[in-house]
Amino acid sequence: MPQTPLGGDGALESRLYIDGAFADARDGATFPTLDPATNETIAEVSAGGPADVDRAVTAARRAFDEGPWPRMTAAQRAKVLRRLGDLLIDHREDLARLESRDAGKPFRETADRDVPRAADNCAFFAGAIEQREQSAFFDRKPFLGAPREIVSIVREEPVGVCALLTPWNSPLMQATWKIAPAIAAGNTCVLKPSELTPLSTLKLAALCGEAGVPDGVVNVVTGFGPQAGAPLVADPRVDAVAFTGSEPTGIAINLAAAATLKKVTLELGGKSANVVCDDADLDLAVEGSVLAMFRHSGQVCLAGTRLFVQAGIYERFVEQFLARVKALRVGDPQSSESDLGPLISPQHRERVEAFIAQAEAEGNSALLRGARPAQPALASGNYHEPTIFAPARDDDRIVREEVFGPVLTLFRFETLDEVVARANATRYGLSSYIWTRDIATGMRFAERVRAGMCWINGYFLRDLRQPFGGRGHSGLGREGGRWSLDFFTEPKLVCIAY
Ligand code: NAD
Repeated sequence: MPQTPLGGDGALESRLYIDGAFADARDGATFPTLDPATNETIAEVSAGGPADVDRAVTAARRAFDEGPWPRMTAAQRAKVLRRLGDLLIDHREDLARLESRDAGKPFRETADRDVPRAADNCAFFAGAIEQREQSAFFDRKPFLGAPREIVSIVREEPVGVCALLTPWNSPLMQATWKIAPAIAAGNTCVLKPSELTPLSTLKLAALCGEAGVPDGVVNVVTGFGPQAGAPLVADPRVDAVAFTGSEPTGIAINLAAAATLKKVTLELGGKSANVVCDDADLDLAVEGSVLAMFRHSGQVCLAGTRLFVQAGIYERFVEQFLARVKALRVGDPQSSESDLGPLISPQHRERVEAFIAQAEAEGNSALLRGARPAQPALASGNYHEPTIFAPARDDDRIVREEVFGPVLTLFRFETLDEVVARANATRYGLSSYIWTRDIATGMRFAERVRAGMCWINGYFLRDLRQPFGGRGHSGLGREGGRWSLDFFTEPKLVCIAY
């Protein structure tokens, strides 16, 4: 049953969304989704299992094989997607509150960034599918004794049923980032949101229905990875898997999908290098580095968790940076005063604390030693203050592994060659940052850094036409713009001779 509204206009939906309707899990199982700021239950959510995945894939398969959606024109699908984008904006306040409460993300960010970006994802892929260029080739060849004109065209067809699996850190943004290109291209899908933050995706499902997405085109199975995610990836009726989440899950999904030769895209974790050169604009580099590291309490795949500062500017930078970090306010994500909300779960905070404890046990010294905040008002949430290890040592676990919390490792470097080598000494390769007034230095770094993305004098200056994704253990494939549409389409060559 729909549960208590969070305020605003919408009832809180907490059941699976299959074939255009909300439904309980077949066995009636539920799990609580908690508010990370208090650890109180927000809602009991349906815990989908293999039988529910089966129902959802059946619905998606039918919608693909027999339904109108893949057969509609790009313009018709785009119209529905634009309506969905408009509905997201109409529900901005509600969705932003819900997301902030379920994910512990500052409301400022969910209202000003996540919900508008979710709407932009829909509008963007509506336009992208309408404007997608098609290819044709013209040739002349002899065939069976006679010269022939040859016209070859490439039909772009949807892949089929897509499994979309999302993490907890930006649930609504991630869901639309996958659903929008998938359905723009004419696919149908089953989305499995994170068990930690399922609520905004269920609200999105309701809005899909309202926008006119036909039944079965978008299905949502909430639940846990092994019970709901794994059967979805393994189902032979699923044609493609788009996953965003952690490295170990990504590897497991890639292995599982290989058994039925599914197309896979993986957006995984990172340990991104952020390089501040002697000639950087100091204020810009400080502000940019604070943002790159501590947004959403460091629970961002792109986080610049390895900060390299050149020797000539090191002392001045560190003094200013430290003052800025100390001024960050840890607190209730619903309050506009808070910069850092809680970590997603008690278990995740313990994991972050274990990283810090191990780093200290290995002899790393903390320039700033954060802890659970002392304020009684924050005692029941999963809060953790920013922590900085400096000088960090390249080979320690805290430097090698993704912590996914407000923990920074800080290094001093001398030359560009040195910092390139150290930036690349990681199995990850998601993003990178460099702050310098010398464009040649920035470009040389960008050419040599082993990462899917490099920002020179900026952080996450994003244009949805651009590729997003990483190399190495940060993932396979790219999302964004034509890269998303390439993934969600299959080219078919049709050759005509006359
Ligand atoms: P996770 O891997 O634990 O879970 C992601 C999703 O996979 C969840 O829906 C989960 O239920 C599901 N899942 C878990 N086990 C599964 C299995 N065996 N089969 C199928 N599905 C399974 O990741 P998380 O903790 O939710 O998210 C944090 C991670 O996501 C971090 O590593 C972060 O860097 C990464 N991330 C990457 C990007 C990117 O674009 N590169 C963006 C955001 C987050």
